[in-house]
Amino acid sequence: MSASPSAPPVVGFVSLGCPKALVDSERILTQLKAEGYEISGQYEDSDLVVVNTCGFIDDAVQESLDAIGEALHENGRVIVTGCLGSKPAAGAQGETGEDLIRRLHPKVLAVTGAHATAEVMAAIHKELPKPHDPFIDLVPEQGIRLTPHHSAYLKVSEGCNHRCTFCIIPSMRGDLVSRPIGEVMREAEALVKSGAREILVISQDTSAYGVDLKYRTDFVDGRPVRSRFTELIRELSQLDVWVRLHYVYPYPHVDEVLDLMAAQSGVRGVLPYLDIPLQHSHPEVLRRMKRPASGEKNLERIQAWRRAVPNLTIRSTFIAGFPGETESEHQHLLDFLTEAQIDRLGCFAYSPVDGAAANDLPGALPEEVREARRDAVMAHQAPIAAARLSRWVGQRAVVLVDELDIDEGCLIGRTTADAPEIDGIVRIYPDPNSRHTVEAAVGEFCEVEITQSDDYDLEGIYMKALTQPHSN
Ligand code: SF4
Repeated sequence: MSASPSAPPVVGFVSLGCPKALVDSERILTQLKAEGYEISGQYEDSDLVVVNTCGFIDDAVQESLDAIGEALHENGRVIVTGCLGSKPAAGAQGETGEDLIRRLHPKVLAVTGAHATAEVMAAIHKELPKPHDPFIDLVPEQGIRLTPHHSAYLKVSEGCNHRCTFCIIPSMRGDLVSRPIGEVMREAEALVKSGAREILVISQDTSAYGVDLKYRTDFVDGRPVRSRFTELIRELSQLDVWVRLHYVYPYPHVDEVLDLMAAQSGVRGVLPYLDIPLQHSHPEVLRRMKRPASGEKNLERIQAWRRAVPNLTIRSTFIAGFPGETESEHQHLLDFLTEAQIDRLGCFAYSPVDGAAANDLPGALPEEVREARRDAVMAHQAPIAAARLSRWVGQRAVVLVDELDIDEGCLIGRTTADAPEIDGIVRIYPDPNSRHTVEAAVGEFCEVEITQSDDYDLEGIYMKALTQPHSN
């Protein structure tokens, strides 16, 4: 609790969920700091606690409910925000996410949905009035970030116009709402100024950026620029950082940024990396899933991308055992993986989510079949991923250093092929034959000679630092 009447009020914060929820947390934290509140990671130091929840799958709901319970037990004054708060009722008799929270934890002070900075701030103001003299000057221009200083998420839009049958995100977050390009670029420039070396572009559907704005023209540094995917990526490519694209669907206009990926080198530019959640290969399964761009010829498109950008890394996720998936549709997916040579792959056994339309599809498969098919996909993919990764051995790679592993006596970093948290790492060891010390710093780029690979990670020898820490 704040120590004296003049001490600034203290807000504790618990942030759960995906990178999009993390960005929501960052916005709330930035606003709190701008208004002069203190932030604490300790329940006992806080005047109240905000819990940002996730409501995507049942495990995430339980984790969120447990976090609310813990915050109530340890502190007693809790405001809940996030996806669980906006989760709709599952069926006519069902309970909304807010009802569920209020039934299990009637003492919570307020519940809001996701992407609701203004509502959360209003609830905080009611329970814990903001200090009279806000410390606005103390807030860094780029806001408060929860990711490491050097890698920053940039959320370009919220919500989604699609209605994939396994997903309830549109019912929780609504249709696509893109941020005007001037606003996005101002945030990106502030992140770079604050020392970010990598910008991770996220949204529910990054390639649809600007559709809702009808690609309206906005101003970037006084220049008129349309709020559209291709223009956005071209603007970001001018910044002095790595730019990594997530949640891109294989629409034809994605081809318009391939030249930027082909030209990328060193410590800046749009990385030859695409995170494309394909979910399946068989046209019938994709149709039942109502996937965006399901009519596109994904294999041909991937092969054409690889011809244009030979070092392109493709990450994707798939669902095994979707309702009605036949043996031959499952086999179609395995054959597709052999052909597509995806670099980084995640596969989930289909699991029904409360409120998702796919629950009503005929042909639900038993859990053991869904899991066996997931295992088969992962086993099929393992040698493909290992072979793709082995192409790095013998190359000099630019690596962004994430941390120091004192026990192992190495630095841990990532190449252009690895997004933080979800992909692999590079272990960087000093050259045993060199008297030069390792000068690379966490959050900076260095050159590494790659000497080994396994299924997911690389190992290499430190060559030289490529960037030095910013002075700011
Ligand atoms: S594209 Fe599909 S899976 Fe992704 S958020 Fe939209 S509805 Fe959900």
